[in-house]
Amino acid sequence: MPEVHEILRQGGDSFLTTKVDAVVNWGRKYSFFLYPFVTACCGMEFMSAAGPRYDLDRFGAALPRFSPRQADLLMVVGTISHRQAPILKKVYDQMAEPKWVVAWGACTCSGGPYNNYATVQGIDTIVPVDLYIPGCPPRPEAVMDGLIKLQGSVQNERGWNKPRHRETSDLTLPIIERPVP
Ligand code: SF4
Repeated sequence: MPEVHEILRQGGDSFLTTKVDAVVNWGRKYSFFLYPFVTACCGMEFMSAAGPRYDLDRFGAALPRFSPRQADLLMVVGTISHRQAPILKKVYDQMAEPKWVVAWGACTCSGGPYNNYATVQGIDTIVPVDLYIPGCPPRPEAVMDGLIKLQGSVQNERGWNKPRHRETSDLTLPIIERPVP
């Protein structure tokens, strides 16, 4: 019979590894440490969702961290310009695994109303996104709903000791198109 550490090393869907996954994921889904990358008007709704009325603490996600190294949930809130894109990518790269990314609002999902040369047309061109929350801005109820869905997907993840995301070095930064003067 293989040793316990050998089963854990190999991963696989043995009884033991699936139970370890379940316990570790249960802890992870109730202990998100979020890094708010807030740039624009969606930030007003972020303050509302994070305040006592809606109480993100119920989902274990109430404590914002302002160092990416201490955060595992990157919440991108508001319009992202091409000038900000490298900064967002650097913040993501500095977060330790496992980490998740939320695109909060129409601008982060797709550029929203700003279909122009200055605006990133969806942050998934820069970093991998786990959850899209639509709305301009999204209501706090939509954020709660999204967080619950993210918790569900974290609970179902397999391979608690393996990296989740592809490296962002695979991702190319969008080409900045400037108008010809
Ligand atoms: S989605 Fe709407 S509210 Fe949010 S940053 Fe964009 S324009 Fe502002």
